[in-house]
Amino acid sequence: MARAGNKNIQAKLVLLGDMGAGKTSLVLRFVKGQFHEYQESTIGAAFFTQVLSLNEATVKFDIWDTAGQERYHSLAPMYYRGAAAAVVVYDLTSMDSFQRAKKWVLELQRQGNPKLIMFLVANKADLEQKRQVLSEEGEQYAKENGLSFLETSAKTAQNVNELFYEIAKRIAKAT
Ligand code: GDP
Ligand code: MG
Repeated sequence: MARAGNKNIQAKLVLLGDMGAGKTSLVLRFVKGQFHEYQESTIGAAFFTQVLSLNEATVKFDIWDTAGQERYHSLAPMYYRGAAAAVVVYDLTSMDSFQRAKKWVLELQRQGNPKLIMFLVANKADLEQKRQVLSEEGEQYAKENGLSFLETSAKTAQNVNELFYEIAKRIAKAT
């Protein structure tokens, strides 16, 4: 129950990043508390909602989980337009996915919404032995580009709730 005087905020959130980075897995971990080793690839985009109650506000997320394949690229603006927050995800076991993430960040910066809350997320932190992208590389890139940075694992749930809570707090503060 929202307390009297609390803000009720509806916020669009978009996840972008290479196919296989773990976008759908992060959303399913957050929304359903589930993880699937053989998560099916997203076609086009998938839509989820989730409500987070903070002390000062209730945030209802409309989450657009995009596909990541190049052939769907032209659809992306539809999903990030009007978004309060964007989460750019890469797989820390893949340098390629880190490079793709940087391209998404550039595209988001070019669309020119200075209020957009942007997170860079290095997912699959449970696969430390296969790591290709150092924490410092992700952190440094995020810092230079004014993004927040987190390392997550959809598999172990590491930092997944923290990610969405942090976004909700930032949105509540800005609203
Ligand atoms: P998407 O294309 O970005 O939506 O990626 P998916 O969520 O479909 O995940 C791609 C593959 O990576 C699936 O086989 C997932 O089970 C796996 N995966 C996703 N997140 C993690 C993670 O944090 N750790 C591990 N070990 N595997 C993950
Ligand atoms: Mg997906």
